[in-house]
Amino acid sequence: MNNGVVPSTVLIVDDVPLNRKLQQTYLDSEGYNVMMASDGLEALEKIKQQPPDLVLLDVMMPRMNGFEVCQNLKDDDDTRFIPIILVTALNEVEDKVKGIEAGADDFICKPFNKLELLARVKSLLRIKHLHDELEKKIKELEVAQRKLYKLAITDGLTQLYNYRYFNEQLKHELNRAVRHNLHVSITMIDIDYFKSYNDTHGHPAGDELLKTIAHLLRSNIRNIDIAARYGGEEFALILIESDKKAAATVAQKIRELVEKHPFPNEQTQPNGKLTVSMGVATYPEETDDPEKLVALADSRLYKAKAAGRNQVILD
Ligand code: GH3
Ligand code: MG
Ligand code: MG
Repeated sequence: MNNGVVPSTVLIVDDVPLNRKLQQTYLDSEGYNVMMASDGLEALEKIKQQPPDLVLLDVMMPRMNGFEVCQNLKDDDDTRFIPIILVTALNEVEDKVKGIEAGADDFICKPFNKLELLARVKSLLRIKHLHDELEKKIKELEVAQRKLYKLAITDGLTQLYNYRYFNEQLKHELNRAVRHNLHVSITMIDIDYFKSYNDTHGHPAGDELLKTIAHLLRSNIRNIDIAARYGGEEFALILIESDKKAAATVAQKIRELVEKHPFPNEQTQPNGKLTVSMGVATYPEETDDPEKLVALADSRLYKAKAAGRNQVILD
């Protein structure tokens, strides 16, 4: 039994009705759920449909004997942790050896004793429940790990990837580009006069703006591309398999979209609207070093600022 909460289910497999009845009576007296099958094939069908917590398995049966059922269950990942007690004739050493080889967990000899049968069932169920608990915990741990990983690579405000993930992925994509002879471009993006927007409308309004721009970026690149928040008000894109020309098209499109987007109260900005400046750099034409690629894009971003902002600089 499962700590008195949900009763465990035991499947009795025996071709002799009287044997089934006797085992059932014993198990009923302890409050177990009992399922029954009258031969090996029926047992397998029932187990696949509704896996029990334990199987009491007769050896000698028509159609499919106990060893074959046992082997079958232990060969299947879905059922190999269901404990099996083989019910053998008294002192058949050969049967026991075959049973162990087929993966049986315990034996009980006919004619069986009620107390012994119940003790063996209880002991194996205890192990089964520990195993089930462990599996549940492992699954919970995996879910928690996935959540933690997502948190570790995500920027909390914008839900874009963060700086760390951008750098990891850039290395990864450059390696891939080297192997497969591909282009990769990156784009650094910085909001123009963002300090002014913050100072005039407050930090929370600035945060909303960052979220809107993040959304504009994410929804105007392909799924395979990477959009990251690189710093406070700086964003970065990895444009996969994109040469300079392709990257220029994407960057110009995004620059225009931001320029045209109606941000709240943007008319207070020094140039009357909210805009971004961008710098682009491309592998393999310019460098194969991820840090140099970022530095190049960054220096072009500052050129864009110096040249009056709201523009994309490609080289
Ligand atoms: P430029 O056109 O030269 O880029 O001018 P700028 O004002 O955008 O640049 P500057 O670097 O002077 O100011 C950036 C501002 O971005 C200052 C900082 O308070 C703001 N900022 C950085 N991170 C955040 C954030 O998470 N939320 C908000 N609301 N503001 C931020
Ligand atoms: Mg800045
Ligand atoms: Mg700025």
